[in-house]
Amino acid sequence: MREVAAPSGETPGDQLVTEERAGALWTWRTPVRGLGPATVFDLDGVLSDGSARHHHLQGPNPDWESFLAGVGEDPVIEEVASLLALLDPSLAVVLLTGRPARVRDVTLEWLLRNQLRWDLLVMRRDGDYRPASHFKQDAARALRNEGFEVKLCFEDDKRTVEILRQAGLPTMYVHSGYYD
Ligand SMILES: [Mg+2]
Repeated sequence: MREVAAPSGETPGDQLVTEERAGALWTWRTPVRGLGPATVFDLDGVLSDGSARHHHLQGPNPDWESFLAGVGEDPVIEEVASLLALLDPSLAVVLLTGRPARVRDVTLEWLLRNQLRWDLLVMRRDGDYRPASHFKQDAARALRNEGFEVKLCFEDDKRTVEILRQAGLPTMYVHSGYYD
């Protein structure tokens, strides 16, 4: 694994390894747990309640920077956090998000602050402007190639739900209201 730009200071940088993999940024908690059976969770609209900042994306000119500027302040979606905590400890938890790498550190701090369980965080590279569904389709393939046996995904974008299912990944739709 190649270590790049691990966060420092108050963030859990010493326990993290970040690498570019399959056109995405993968951050592992170390020591890396075995691969094998895994669950995959989206962040925005599934674990993280971004409804207070979603208005930045509405209208003809979505303001992505303002939308992303608030990611560290989102409340946790408690039901999904509870589900995460109830999962069998043998399952790996992959967080697959369309967020770009430039909000990695604030995302890691948010995960730590909210004491959420995870093993691998997969983010877009900065400058990747593909639809999130395309990014996640490629990421799903890469996870499988890596050796993960994805048992179930949780996702709030119906286009992505369909694409993950087409890729053979069982996926549960979570209603966030962001795409209504
Ligand atoms: Mg989402």
